Amino acid sequence: MSTDTAAPSLALRREDFGAVGYQHDTRRLVFLRRPDEAGRPLAELVAGGLRAPVCLTWELTYACNLQCVHCLSSSGRPDPRELDTDGCRALIDEMAAMGVFYVNIGGGEPTLRPDFWELLEYAVQRRVGVKFSTNGIRITPQRARWLAAAPDIDVQVSLDGATAPVNDAIRGAGSYATALSALTRLRAAGFVDPKLSVVCTRETVAHLDELLALADDHGATLRLTRLRPSGRGAQVWDRLRLLPGQQRQVYDWLRIHGHRVLTGDSFFHLSGYGDPLPGLSGCGAGRVVCLVDPIGDVYACPFAIHDRFRAGNVTTDGGLAQVWRSAPAFAALRDASAGPECRGCAAYQDCRGGCPAAKFFTGLAPEAPDPECVQGRAAQRLAASQDRPTHGIDHSRRTSLAVLADSPCDQSPLQGFLPELFPPDPS
Ligand code: SF4
Ligand code: SF4
Repeated sequence: MSTDTAAPSLALRREDFGAVGYQHDTRRLVFLRRPDEAGRPLAELVAGGLRAPVCLTWELTYACNLQCVHCLSSSGRPDPRELDTDGCRALIDEMAAMGVFYVNIGGGEPTLRPDFWELLEYAVQRRVGVKFSTNGIRITPQRARWLAAAPDIDVQVSLDGATAPVNDAIRGAGSYATALSALTRLRAAGFVDPKLSVVCTRETVAHLDELLALADDHGATLRLTRLRPSGRGAQVWDRLRLLPGQQRQVYDWLRIHGHRVLTGDSFFHLSGYGDPLPGLSGCGAGRVVCLVDPIGDVYACPFAIHDRFRAGNVTTDGGLAQVWRSAPAFAALRDASAGPECRGCAAYQDCRGGCPAAKFFTGLAPEAPDPECVQGRAAQRLAASQDRPTHGIDHSRRTSLAVLADSPCDQSPLQGFLPELFPPDPS
């Protein structure tokens, strides 16, 4: 891959409170405040929305070889309207022009797209860093070596159990072996610090130590995320979400191990137990982050794929920058305020009412406490909540879809892709 080795590692972008910077080589983000803004909490600084997203999650395709029970985008088969290569390149150009520091590419399984590696190269050349999530299906030894030599690309392998029976019950038969094989190949190729991404469920919570050890053994960093009731996750949320005692268990575990584990914005609602946890505090949806789906629709975050959080489309609504700046859906999130239960809560500075997506998909109002509020302040509303909104379009296989006609993709998401998708393993 050709790169501009003279390009500075630190990218800076001016913001109303000062600037935000991203160190491409260490993948670290820094917020630089003017002296008069020094005392304000970060959540307040970004409450009105940054001038551009810091990072953007981009679901490149709905195609997936797996059928995970909690898939946040209800993926399975591709949508015929997905952006083509030129459309993807144009979006990368716009990200670069806006100063988006990096893109989290997911899906579906993004490596199933024939142009996936080409798009990665293009993004890096345009100085947009890449992190991509994969179930490992296309991480051959050859591809692992290519990744190890590529600058500014991070790889995140998904796994939902420390053992095959636990993982495969959620992600599908054989998926444990595929994920570990990918991590082994990355390590053998010299790839530095991939991520092992685990959704924290009722089944995985007892094995956090083992998962941390598994990551260590593969030279990876463990990333824990919260199960949200989004996509197919809505169907299993009541069965797999953490029990109250397990929420406490995760909090206590993160108090000890949190400095070695990435959690993003997953567990700030657990700060209601006492001291804040490492990681982000407060929701960045439509303020710091957003999501672009495979057909170019823009949503507030990966867990908020619903018309309620839809801000526009990158091809028909004036482009990503216009959507980011002007969408009423984002303005509503930036103006949101907490209800009385949260405003009167001692943990409000760190929890700020929890996750708007989790509230929405459990039928709670935006100002309500998080459905998993550790102080139990959402319990009554949750019990009374009758109507839970469903995900917009379901791309799961073997379902009857309103938008997508039944097709061979119902049976295999790989129908129509080129045979070289799965080249013989060169080693
Ligand atoms: S009451 Fe609101 S702010 Fe307090 S812990 Fe619960 S969700 Fe968080
Ligand atoms: S809506 Fe929830 S999942 Fe999305 S950015 Fe906010 S806190 Fe995170």
